Amino acid sequence: MNNANNPSLKSWIDVKNNSDFPIQNIPFGIFSPKGKSPRPATIIGETVIDLSVLAEEGFFDDIIDEEYDAFFASSLNDLISLGKEFTAKLRNKISELFSYDNELIRDDSELQSKLLFKQEDVEMHMPVEVGDYTDFYSSIEHATNVGTMFRDPDNALFPNWRHLPVGYHGRASSIVVSGTDIHRPNGQTLAAGEDKPVFGPCRLFDFELEMAFITGKGNKLGNPVKLEDAEDYIFGMVIFNDLSARDIQKWEYVPLGPFLAKNFGSVISPWIVTLDALEPFRVKGPKQEPEVLPYLKFDGNRNFDINLEVAIQPENGDETIVSKSNHKYLYWNIAQQLTHHTVNGCNIKPGDMYASGTISGPTKDSFGSMLELSWGGKNPVSLKDGSERKFINDLDTIIMRGYAENNGVRVGFGKSVCKVLPAKKY
Ligand code: CA
Repeated sequence: MNNANNPSLKSWIDVKNNSDFPIQNIPFGIFSPKGKSPRPATIIGETVIDLSVLAEEGFFDDIIDEEYDAFFASSLNDLISLGKEFTAKLRNKISELFSYDNELIRDDSELQSKLLFKQEDVEMHMPVEVGDYTDFYSSIEHATNVGTMFRDPDNALFPNWRHLPVGYHGRASSIVVSGTDIHRPNGQTLAAGEDKPVFGPCRLFDFELEMAFITGKGNKLGNPVKLEDAEDYIFGMVIFNDLSARDIQKWEYVPLGPFLAKNFGSVISPWIVTLDALEPFRVKGPKQEPEVLPYLKFDGNRNFDINLEVAIQPENGDETIVSKSNHKYLYWNIAQQLTHHTVNGCNIKPGDMYASGTISGPTKDSFGSMLELSWGGKNPVSLKDGSERKFINDLDTIIMRGYAENNGVRVGFGKSVCKVLPAKKY
């Protein structure tokens, strides 16, 4: 176990019960203090810690050498490119500096005034510059629900589904950080019973509850990443809301798959939680049947017990939790996803992002999209204010949260928050 994961560690920074960010987490993000440029940070409790100041003040001198510049960059790409051995050392060092009995910073209020920031006073940015983005389709419950609704309940899964982690290449440029508002997209749709499409605002606006992993290491074109090495390439994970325009999707997706129904915005939580921090939360995944091909075989626990939830908050109303799911339900694990992605020689890079696909659980209250929760609009979902939703309304805010918990330690992801604005006039 990393020392940073020790459940008995406490920080001299105040951490409330149920905080996503105890000293055992130490996630990485990019923030800007008022009037200053974006830079790398971590967070303990509700206190954001400026890593550039720690680097400047020499606190990392025993672990850094030529890596110094990465602490002043406006994305984490350079920092995570230094490799997991380095980022694990860095996480342990941060943990040591903020441990309860370490007086170095604890007793230096002048240093604290330029190093520590209240979460509410700072702006968070995209943690990485995403070069390439892939979206998988790895929840068997989700794929079965969608296949049942749109094709054939007896043959809900396509024949390939249990043999490979299905995915498609998505759009990196429209992945945005939590707090970014997104307009309802305009597009082409074909109404039921019509033979000509119309143009206008999407009517079936949806979310997809997903998580995404980020690679911190690249491979050379032509050199597949083997399954046993795959996790060495994966730096950490975020919550990922894959906004989806169902009516646009239905008309456009044949035969090449999702396009404009998916690339108008995907909203991530701002802190990347490292795989190191998630180590204590590994669990067995679902049994894979039939047996997978040899290149996808794995040892050990490759799924993660991460509780996930989605809430809808209407304008001027309280939020209602509409779904509770878990990352552990994923049929295909992240090591298999990355291995399959590169098995043909495809090269990946630090900062690339790979979403899981909608993570639905086995019960109706654990489905990860409105499409499934309302079963294609047949069963509206009731909100606390008495209103109902088949899909998402204008001015609704979609909030996704996630955390793992055991041994009295809760390692969380914070939130992905997105308000849906009316369509722009075209
Ligand atoms: Ca998706």
